[in-house]
Amino acid sequence: MKEFDYIIIGGGCAGLSLAYELEINEKLKDKTLAIIEPRTEYKKDKTWSFWKVATHNFDDCIKKSWKNFTINIPKKTNHLECLSYPYQSVDSGLFYEKINNKLKENKNISFFKDISEINSKNSFIFNSVPSIKRDHRNLWQHFCGVEIESQNNFFDDEIFNLMDFDCDQRGSVHFFYTLPYSKNTALIETTWLSRMSDGSQKDYDSQIKNYIENHLKLKNYKIIYKEEGAIPLFYPTYEKGGNKINIGTAGGMTRLSTGYTFLNIQEHSKYICKNIENISNAKKFEIDKKYQFLDHIFLGVLDKNPEMMPEIFFKMFKSSPKTVIKFLSNKSNFLEDLSIILKMPKITFIKALFY
Ligand SMILES: Cc1cc2nc3c(=O)[nH]c(=O)nc-3n(C[C@H](O)[C@H](O)[C@H](O)COP(=O)(O)OP(=O)(O)OC[C@H]3O[C@@H](n4cnc5c(N)ncnc54)[C@H](O)[C@@H]3O)c2cc1C
Repeated sequence: MKEFDYIIIGGGCAGLSLAYELEINEKLKDKTLAIIEPRTEYKKDKTWSFWKVATHNFDDCIKKSWKNFTINIPKKTNHLECLSYPYQSVDSGLFYEKINNKLKENKNISFFKDISEINSKNSFIFNSVPSIKRDHRNLWQHFCGVEIESQNNFFDDEIFNLMDFDCDQRGSVHFFYTLPYSKNTALIETTWLSRMSDGSQKDYDSQIKNYIENHLKLKNYKIIYKEEGAIPLFYPTYEKGGNKINIGTAGGMTRLSTGYTFLNIQEHSKYICKNIENISNAKKFEIDKKYQFLDHIFLGVLDKNPEMMPEIFFKMFKSSPKTVIKFLSNKSNFLEDLSIILKMPKITFIKALFY
């Protein structure tokens, strides 16, 4: 059986981002790489959105970028600007196409459907398939989004809605998220932060229909794309071996308080690429411990007091948007952290230290 210097398990966001980073930095000129990916075809299956607080390789896969956004709770709306850190949406279809076209040019890169097809004994492995143990206490961000096309111009495509809490909460945390790509197309998602202990919040289609028709008051539209997913708001089991590193969701690249993962994956890929010659001894790349600690408290509050969360998110954005964006994107300094922390209900957060 064939042997390779490197193996990437999972050719999704993290696996392909890493392969691309290695390829464009000429790290695969005299090294071989096997990518293990069971899917039979690549097509658009996700929209990755984030505040652009760092550079990445996929500006040409951006579907749309915004410099204004809103957040709202019943009867209150906050209009905010994000001029320094625009919010971007990457189209996964364009991302897969760009990377796969580039990787095809290098004979040292091969794709397989299953790891049993190769000899992996002497390779260095980058694994992006998470090992998730079911635990009813775990929190998830689960969601369903549809891209719709309206018959007439309806949306203001200069401004997106980050969170609209003016909806049924059902004892959890629930909001809608609207990304207007043009005046007559938008991605509208229903998003829940919960333990997902039963299927009772998964009547996504009727939630979205009701929101579009009765809340936004849009009647003439059609659905042109749909995506659904669940992001773990806990770290999957991490088994570090001498010749193995986990990447992507499996590698703890999700910011647990927000679910944002894409840009962390890009930074992790750059880190691995920089250290590839001595990767077995490189320090583990992880989201700063400060954010891990603060997110643990935040999720403790969310779990115990879901009814407080719309107000908490709304208040958080009463700080300067630049500060909040830096905080949510792991780029804030101590004073910026403090300005966010001081906006939070103190007794509730102190209690959460002991959960
Ligand atoms: C629908 C959706 C929307 C999201 N939107 C955002 C967003 O807007 N912003 C953001 O920052 N994050 C977002 N996320 C979170 C995160 O960015 C994505 O989940 C991202 O795809 C994670 O990358 P990954 O490589 O870890 O996992 P994936 O992209 O899921 O890649 C894992 C790959 O492993 C393959 N695989 C599965 N089993 C095996 C196996 N046994 N052997 C080999 N390969 C296997 C899969 O086919 C897949 O291609 C979203 C997640 C989902 C599900």
